[in-house]
Amino acid sequence: GGVVVAIDGPSGSGKSSTAKGVASARDLWYLDTGAMYRAVTWWMLRNEVDTADPAAVAASAAHPVITMGTDPAAPTVQVDGRDVAREIRTPEVTTHVSAVSAVPEVRERLVALQRDIIARARRQAGGIVVEGRDITTVVAPDAPVKIYLTASAEARAHRRSREVSADAAATQADLLRRDRLDSSRAASPLTRTEDAIELETTGLSLDEVIAIVVKLTDE
Ligand code: C5P
Repeated sequence: GGVVVAIDGPSGSGKSSTAKGVASARDLWYLDTGAMYRAVTWWMLRNEVDTADPAAVAASAAHPVITMGTDPAAPTVQVDGRDVAREIRTPEVTTHVSAVSAVPEVRERLVALQRDIIARARRQAGGIVVEGRDITTVVAPDAPVKIYLTASAEARAHRRSREVSADAAATQADLLRRDRLDSSRAASPLTRTEDAIELETTGLSLDEVIAIVVKLTDE
């Protein structure tokens, strides 16, 4: 079967741009697992599920039908057949996604879906680049290429504020808040393991980071 490249790291570490660039360079599929947690969160908000109530979130975790388009040049995300690419990036979804993604029933369902997509990519394509928080540890611990991306808080906020055209200081505060929420919960998805290669990207250009990961993929 095809290759699996697993990339984890905190918000704004450059995971999405790196993963898309590597997938394009090596003609692989691309999967943004954060978009899947955001899509479920969008569905919960739209259906007035109280995201602060884990039992309520768990009870409806099986309802939203999430469909991912894996072309790195034009990735898509659908909920119940509706394109939600824009809606899942709103501050409202960003505020609630940590709580929704902390619910085990949500994680179990999305991890199963992610493994299905990976298996399909290995059968039907050259493989896949998957990015998120628990790809190297939970979703695909046997991936031949496992990367943990890091960058300074300033570099992460600078990149993210360009993406969403917001103020860098406010963005940095929001990223640090999400880091804290993502790491303080009982079963934090983001853990650094010994067998993932840590790549510190502060001061590197996107093309330099992509070239390093492509080289590791080719080895
Ligand atoms: O990558 P992105 O910042 O879009 O992810 C949004 C949120 O989804 C994260 O802050 C985290 O709470 C959750 N997430 C997760 N596990 C993943 C990917 C994302 O819990 N594999």
